[in-house]
Amino acid sequence: MFFGTLVLMAALTPTQLAQQALIVDTHIDAPSLQANQWLDIKEMDKRNFSYALAKKGGLDVAFMSIYTSPTSDEMNTAEQSADRQIDAMEALVYRHPTKFAIVKDPKDIAKNKGKIMFAFGMENAAPIGDHLSKLKKFSDRGVSYITLAHSANNRLSDSSYSIEKKWNGLSPFGREVVAEMNRRGMMVDVSHLSDAAALEAIKISSVPVIATHSSFRHFTPGFERNVSDEIAKAIAAKGGVVQVTFGTGFVNPIAAKNTQDYFTALKAFKDQHARDIANGVKPAQTEEEFDKKWDDDHPTPKESYKAVADHIEYGVKLVGIDHIGIGSDFDGVGESLPDGLKTVADYPNLIAELRKRGFTDAQLRKILGENTIRMWKQVRAAKKA
Ligand SMILES: [Zn+2]
Repeated sequence: MFFGTLVLMAALTPTQLAQQALIVDTHIDAPSLQANQWLDIKEMDKRNFSYALAKKGGLDVAFMSIYTSPTSDEMNTAEQSADRQIDAMEALVYRHPTKFAIVKDPKDIAKNKGKIMFAFGMENAAPIGDHLSKLKKFSDRGVSYITLAHSANNRLSDSSYSIEKKWNGLSPFGREVVAEMNRRGMMVDVSHLSDAAALEAIKISSVPVIATHSSFRHFTPGFERNVSDEIAKAIAAKGGVVQVTFGTGFVNPIAAKNTQDYFTALKAFKDQHARDIANGVKPAQTEEEFDKKWDDDHPTPKESYKAVADHIEYGVKLVGIDHIGIGSDFDGVGESLPDGLKTVADYPNLIAELRKRGFTDAQLRKILGENTIRMWKQVRAAKKA
């Protein structure tokens, strides 16, 4: 009896907490992989996200990234690509309706408990082109947030990775899109944006905004892709959430510097390439060769899941427990994930580490999902169309 009582009172293990808590990961890149090579659930186990891995790690809501590149924007193929990615994820749900569900609103979560739920986030607004009306189309298909830009300035916004900014913030169309997203109850994602664009989006949005996969620049000086303290505070002041991302390139200072330097070197390469072509000279390298050499010369340093815990701990101290979440970028950063956080089965490792640092279960539940859902509900409640 005595032992029985002790067992009942014992704290949950990290794995048990992961199973019981609502885990919401706001950035997983499975859709572009599925669109390019559709795999059924068993075959997906070799990737970072699969049904079995998600069940093991306690994942509940996976914001699946509908990613389109700046190149697809230039080639006018972004909308088709986005539709194909959503189709590919719908095919998983269609074939396994007891295992997966699509959630378009936080109120859909309770009735699908036990399933792995897909919410969609559009990474790069390229698929809407110049058409505000496409926001309705994609919202109807389940897109719940849009990352306004990706790795290059686009028609809405400047990008953190662009060396030369185009708009010094958002474009006039970008401002219209933010207003229309507010009206439609879609979350505005400021990850990937330049500082000026992120601050402008936070300022003009009538509801909280989210950074779906950004870590803290405090650890990676000069790396605009991670949020500055100023931006994190502005997001929190408005009621939003910074979702800490896991990739080594975001949490490790050397890797982050390599990425920043890459974009500077790439711009120099492209400028030289254009000059060579204009002068009738054969360029020394193709862009693929340039990329390969860069990667060979800049191997990703080894990193541990403890670095992700460092970012979360810092964020909580900076902006408070109600404004930090997780956005892994699983299936989006190749092999460059920290040891101990390689797949959606690994959330318990992060939980164990944060516990060691004094986080209570109630605090961990907020970070793992409750904060994100609170914000998402707030954005939906303000929906006017
Ligand atoms: Zn991204």
